[in-house]
Amino acid sequence: MRKRIVAGNWKMNLSKQEAEQLITDLESQYENDKDCHIVICPSSVYLNLAIDMQSNMSVGAQNVSERENGAFTGEISCAMLSSMGVQYCIVGHSERRQYFGDTNELINQKVKALLANNITPILCCGESLSERESNQQEKVVSMQLGSGLKGLSPDEVAKVVVAYEPVWAIGTGKTASAEQAQDIHAYIRAFLQDIIGDKSQKISILYGGSCKPENAKELFACRDIDGGLIGGAALNATSFLAIANSF
Ligand code: PEP
Repeated sequence: MRKRIVAGNWKMNLSKQEAEQLITDLESQYENDKDCHIVICPSSVYLNLAIDMQSNMSVGAQNVSERENGAFTGEISCAMLSSMGVQYCIVGHSERRQYFGDTNELINQKVKALLANNITPILCCGESLSERESNQQEKVVSMQLGSGLKGLSPDEVAKVVVAYEPVWAIGTGKTASAEQAQDIHAYIRAFLQDIIGDKSQKISILYGGSCKPENAKELFACRDIDGGLIGGAALNATSFLAIANSF
């Protein structure tokens, strides 16, 4: 069975005290017997805190440098994340593509650097509203995934977690319907099967975009949806864990 994952992207939110409180709440409410792996992705300044405070969850970063080390002021390397115990890292999020110029080539370099440091990339893809309206979603995700995974061996590709996040659903309150999400997840699964064969069957494909306790059950019941990448609803332990308990 594929790994079920619910990952929380905290983005640039929370004070240190609020982050501590959220981790405390998650730790006290999380039932470890559930068949779902939890990943929390706080701001990089709270990664250490999260690693020290958590006992059952994994910790992920929201971004990383593609470079190895050296004079790159303000950057954080994969080796640094790895040495702290960070296990996952989000790459290719639409906000990074849109506001920070992360190109497909750069995303590909980050994916390679993460894998070389034994960190699992959560590789995001997804179309904009105008691309959805012109029925370009398959073309967009295949281009983003094809470039993001370029040059990787099948074994390396199989280590990646994919997150399908339609840009029009992120932070907007609009969720893709379960049918829309399943259709594109099935397309992504077939795309991965084409490039690496049966090894693709173990790749978890997460849905992201206004996922909340009210819609998680229907989304997670779909055959090719293996969990979620959660933004807004991850900032509250009760709603985040309700989503994780929706399998
Ligand atoms: C995200 O940014 O990855 C996301 C899914 O956000 P939200 O859940 O708030 O739409």
